[in-house]
Amino acid sequence: MPGVEDGVGLTALMVAAARAIETHRPDALAGDTYAEHFVRTARVSATWPVRPEEVTGGDANPLWGRLGRYFGLRTRVLDDSLTRSAHAGARQVVLLGAGLDTRAFRLGWPPGLVVYEIDRDGVLKFKQHVLDGLAAVPAATRRPIAVDLRDDWAHALLSRGFDPAVPTAWLAEGLLLYLPPAAERRLIDTVDHLSAEGSTLFFEVKLGPESPEVRAGPIYAATRRQIGVDLPALFDREPRPDSVGHLRDRGWSVTVHTPFDFARRHGRGPLPEPNDALSSNRWMFADKSGTSL
Ligand code: SAM
Repeated sequence: MPGVEDGVGLTALMVAAARAIETHRPDALAGDTYAEHFVRTARVSATWPVRPEEVTGGDANPLWGRLGRYFGLRTRVLDDSLTRSAHAGARQVVLLGAGLDTRAFRLGWPPGLVVYEIDRDGVLKFKQHVLDGLAAVPAATRRPIAVDLRDDWAHALLSRGFDPAVPTAWLAEGLLLYLPPAAERRLIDTVDHLSAEGSTLFFEVKLGPESPEVRAGPIYAATRRQIGVDLPALFDREPRPDSVGHLRDRGWSVTVHTPFDFARRHGRGPLPEPNDALSSNRWMFADKSGTSL
């Protein structure tokens, strides 16, 4: 059973470690006190850093410095975006490829909101084990759903009480990079199909394949060397579908941002560099009410 300690599941631990480090920065963009417990519990990550002072080379470390800050920034921006959607009327949040996301526990949700967390069984079992050990109490109704997003996940979601008639805030954070184009197309279609007016969707993509120079750059090299995760080998290499165009054709309004836009806005986070692993990342904010976010 694919779990959190292998393949793409391991990327969930990598993001959790970055969130743990971010949480302890004096100028933290986001706080997640659960993150370090996931990292310390899994055997494979037990010796990874969870605090800034444990990072060799500090902010100059390409993995836990620059890429880590990228994850911290992404966490903050999506914390804000989801909270906004929920207070604007979304009654359900669906975390697609939820990994070790603890937003159901750590954000302030309006009464009655339901958070669905979709990921593979092994990842969700590990997550539950750690959260149970901490006696963590969710701040919303939380429904984890173990299903592969390449399969019929809509059926699984509907069978757990998801209501397509009320507005939903959907999140695909750090997910589509790993999915084949057909699965991305199906996912976007399904989200559209299950979205009432007033729903929102965030998703992150990479624009096309990266050059050999980018693949050999400092972030990917450090990730391979320090934690044995070969990100370019995990990314799907097939040409990406035009999900933005597809959503616009179906009446969604979509704004496209670089992560650097938000780094500038917050005065913290990564800025562009030559041969940059972050330069082809785009953050998409889509809204079914037709108003730009
Ligand atoms: N969204 C979380 C976050 O940002 O912290 C996790 C991101 S992690 C980089 C990617 C997650 O996507 C992993 O938890 C992995 O198990 C999940 N994932 C990847 N492919 C999947 C699939 N086909 N079905 C379900 N989950 C998948």
